[in-house]
Amino acid sequence: MKRILVTNDDGVYSEGIRLLAAELRTLAEVIVVAPDREQSASGHSLTLQRPLRMQRIEEDVYSVDGTPTDCVNLGVLWLLADNPPDLIVSGINFGFNLGDDVTYSGTVSATFEGTLLGIPSVAFSQEVAENFSFAAAAGFARAFVELLCARKLPKDLLLNVNIPAGEVTGISFTKLGHRVYKQSVVEKKDPRGRRYFWIAGTPKWKNDEGTDHQAVSQGRISITPLHLDLTDYRGLDSYEWLLRGLNGIKGEPEERD
Ligand code: MN
Repeated sequence: MKRILVTNDDGVYSEGIRLLAAELRTLAEVIVVAPDREQSASGHSLTLQRPLRMQRIEEDVYSVDGTPTDCVNLGVLWLLADNPPDLIVSGINFGFNLGDDVTYSGTVSATFEGTLLGIPSVAFSQEVAENFSFAAAAGFARAFVELLCARKLPKDLLLNVNIPAGEVTGISFTKLGHRVYKQSVVEKKDPRGRRYFWIAGTPKWKNDEGTDHQAVSQGRISITPLHLDLTDYRGLDSYEWLLRGLNGIKGEPEERD
């Protein structure tokens, strides 16, 4: 029987993770290690400045007072250290994790961490809309994970899955989309008259062909294969001019009169 570590960024008590774990338990041994509270937009943050506490909530369900990345580390390197999971599944997130947003996402970052630890990982996110339900997405996640479990997966497999609310019209493999503009900063005054800020705004997306955003806006489930090598390979060949200039630098303080 396969062993799956389930985590998320909405917290261990969220409906998305509860339904996901219940569906995956019909396929595999499922161990949930998830934050004890919401950690959305925590990105790939790792807690090093304070100790972490893990609490057993029920059989095979644990909470950690940290980030999704902390949960993956405690799950893989401690709780399941003797028998590591075959797969890490993160979600089901309350809301899309598309395009430029993926590095903010704790849901997706948990899968970044999974592949860094050598375990194939998949993130699931569900569009929030009126009368939406996690149930259909959880059913899809089960079928999807069943297909994955039937194969030997590469250690660096990293898939970001976004599921639209309402009727699904198809499934597409996609590339990350880009925002037209980023968040705005709202300035307000607190009751004591001091300024505070809130990062806000609803992202607008370029409707580029083949993107995750385009797929979900057409009612299709989007699957984006990701990898963590952030190298700009084009850049390796395009900075001759800078290297020439840098080679002229002696690397010692200039003598001044
Ligand atoms: Mn979230």
